[in-house]
Amino acid sequence: MPNISSPNISPQTFIKDFRDLFLKSPQCGSWTRASENCDYGDITTVSKDCYMCFNSGNCRNAYYCEDSRAMTDSTDCAFCENCELVYECVDCDGCYDCNFCQDCHNCRNVQFAYDLRRCTDCVGCVGLRDKQFCIFNEQYTKENYEEALQKLDITDTKILEKISEQLEELKRKTPRMFVHQFDTTNCTGDYIYHSKNCHMCFDTRHTEDSGYINQANLDMGTKDSYDCGPIPTGMDLCYDAAYSHYLFNCKFIYWCGNLKDSEYCTNCFESEHLFGCHYLQHKRDGFYILNQKVEEEFYWKMIAEIKAELKKEGIFTIHDLLFKDLEKNEKTLSENEQVRSCAICSENFELTKNEIEFYKKHEITFPIYCPFCRADQRIHLRNERKMYKRICDSCKKSLISTYEPDSKFIVHCLDCYWKHMG
Ligand SMILES: [Zn+2]
Ligand SMILES: [Zn+2]
Repeated sequence: MPNISSPNISPQTFIKDFRDLFLKSPQCGSWTRASENCDYGDITTVSKDCYMCFNSGNCRNAYYCEDSRAMTDSTDCAFCENCELVYECVDCDGCYDCNFCQDCHNCRNVQFAYDLRRCTDCVGCVGLRDKQFCIFNEQYTKENYEEALQKLDITDTKILEKISEQLEELKRKTPRMFVHQFDTTNCTGDYIYHSKNCHMCFDTRHTEDSGYINQANLDMGTKDSYDCGPIPTGMDLCYDAAYSHYLFNCKFIYWCGNLKDSEYCTNCFESEHLFGCHYLQHKRDGFYILNQKVEEEFYWKMIAEIKAELKKEGIFTIHDLLFKDLEKNEKTLSENEQVRSCAICSENFELTKNEIEFYKKHEITFPIYCPFCRADQRIHLRNERKMYKRICDSCKKSLISTYEPDSKFIVHCLDCYWKHMG
């Protein structure tokens, strides 16, 4: 039982204690949920017979697909959805039997194309709508098209080079939309859909009144949040959260789900009022700091003291708290410095009015890193997309994991990961 009367918590040792606890808590060696024969890859959900797919779901026979959904019999794709028999495609949706395409939607039998909609049987085309039998944007008859296609042997590297050259030229000559947005109001960023009042968001849907949200394929949407993603589901009132789902009023979160009113957590699920916790679930019965149950009054007093200490030590993100070299003391920027120089890349960045309001409302220290470095930090909370054979540190069964066999972390298979959670 947690000892409520004399918790062993001090602001001065919080960073070390948090890191020690992280090292002692198991990490999930391979997150392939509700999937079959998808051992090589990570964050693959509801999929079957996939190989080296990452951050992808609802796929069948997909190979080397990243950040994609509902892919069937497809290889080497990124940011694609609902495609079948596609190869080397990026940002395509609803395509069938297409190769080397980018930004194509609802196309069939299309190769080497950019920005086509509802086209079939086209090669080397750019910016076409509802067309058939076109080569380099020129209309052919069905017979001429088939004849010309026979001469385009794409296994011949010389022909392939020529196609690429011509396609690039056509891309330069064809006007394109300045941004990829659909059903948006007052948004800056790219690949934003069904959203409003978003500042510098990318690959994001159903987002409102938020900024710097990346790779948020949200089914439930996001509101009033900054600096979050990748996030698969939804969140409200969040800051600096990555690889997590369904968060409400949470900050500095990595790899958590269904959390409320929590800060600085990893591997925590179905809980609320956690601060600096790892590897806990179903904690809705009180207040927790460093996995110890504490009195409510102690909780609020202590987290205020810890936050002051974190600010003093230059901890601005969950990545900082886990990995920052504390010897390397960075300058602290004053709150009223609106044009700021990033402490990582030295580029200047500016805080928007809405952003400042958000930080003030949530009592978050104004960032010293630019939005790009902040997004980069969140991506680097996870391992590189490389796979290793290793064993589960609990049940000893063999695993294919992004954790190396000699990783400093305790690594569990998915079953053991859930079984032993506190
Ligand atoms: Zn930067
Ligand atoms: Zn195991």
